[in-house]
Amino acid sequence: MNDFERKMDNTVGEGLYASKIQCFQVNLGLVCNQACRHCHLSCSPERTEVMEWRVMEMILSAAETVRPVFVDLTGGAPELNPDFRRFVSALRERDIPVQVRTNLTVITEAGMEDLPDFYRDKGIQLVGSLPCYLEENVRAQRGERVYEKSVEALKMLNGFGYGVEPGLILNLVYNPGGPFLPGDQSALEKAYRKELMSRFDLRFTNLLTITNMPIGRFKEELRVRNEEKEYMELLRNSFNPTTVDGLMCRYQISFGWDGIMYDCDFNLALGFSVDHGAPDHISKFDASILSGRRIVTGSHCFGCTAGSGSSCGGALVDPGA
Ligand code: SF4
Ligand code: SF4
Repeated sequence: MNDFERKMDNTVGEGLYASKIQCFQVNLGLVCNQACRHCHLSCSPERTEVMEWRVMEMILSAAETVRPVFVDLTGGAPELNPDFRRFVSALRERDIPVQVRTNLTVITEAGMEDLPDFYRDKGIQLVGSLPCYLEENVRAQRGERVYEKSVEALKMLNGFGYGVEPGLILNLVYNPGGPFLPGDQSALEKAYRKELMSRFDLRFTNLLTITNMPIGRFKEELRVRNEEKEYMELLRNSFNPTTVDGLMCRYQISFGWDGIMYDCDFNLALGFSVDHGAPDHISKFDASILSGRRIVTGSHCFGCTAGSGSSCGGALVDPGA
């Protein structure tokens, strides 16, 4: 039993189990046009792993059976998978809603200028990464010129109605610039709205706050700075049992680029595939077993239960709950 399981046992009184599969999160590969400091999957332009069409076909078939509320495409930069548009089109033809997690800057890459038009045409919901509204913080975390390119991309998306028209959702993601928990989501959203509007006349739909997970490049950085133990203590001491009901792993299944299934993107990053007797590859997909599976956990799970909680959809509970 790991320390997270012990905590669950002592507070909630049982292990962590999936409740139902509402979301398919599909990692289309680890290739990215950026190489951010906090990337838990260590993605970069040098990575070569991409999901092939034959794996996408199996996911399409599983999605037709399960009819998830939406399919969430991630990476790397999912748009850099050569079959990205074909896969999105195939999902939409089946009337399955699609969300794309975009790093924004990919839209400014050569040959990608028509992406906003494609997103709009297919009725895609977007989640864009912008870890701060201040240039120096974005540059420090995500690299040179990322801020300028992100602003350029947001302007393009606003021009196509994203973040402006009610049906064209453009959510932004904030994550802390260091080993501390995110501030209150609604207060940060107000600050983002004010700053992005006054500086650049930019709009977005909602802000999602996400806690930095102690894995991947962020963990390496903590080690180098000798801050890993302190950060883990912060996460453990901030355990909030009211977040457990909403933990994203309870409502989703995550697919790696090679078709291996995980409880979430963080377990994917760690190589912890679905276990406890459940099938772990898309070729053996069985919704009846997977929907009630026991979830594979570890110390990193304290990142999802700290404070207001954290998930790919932002905070899980109101502060103080
Ligand atoms: S955090 Fe996102 S944008 Fe940055 S390297 Fe990782 S996948 Fe790419
Ligand atoms: S890291 Fe979070 S989402 Fe993933 S299994 Fe642990 S608690 Fe669930």
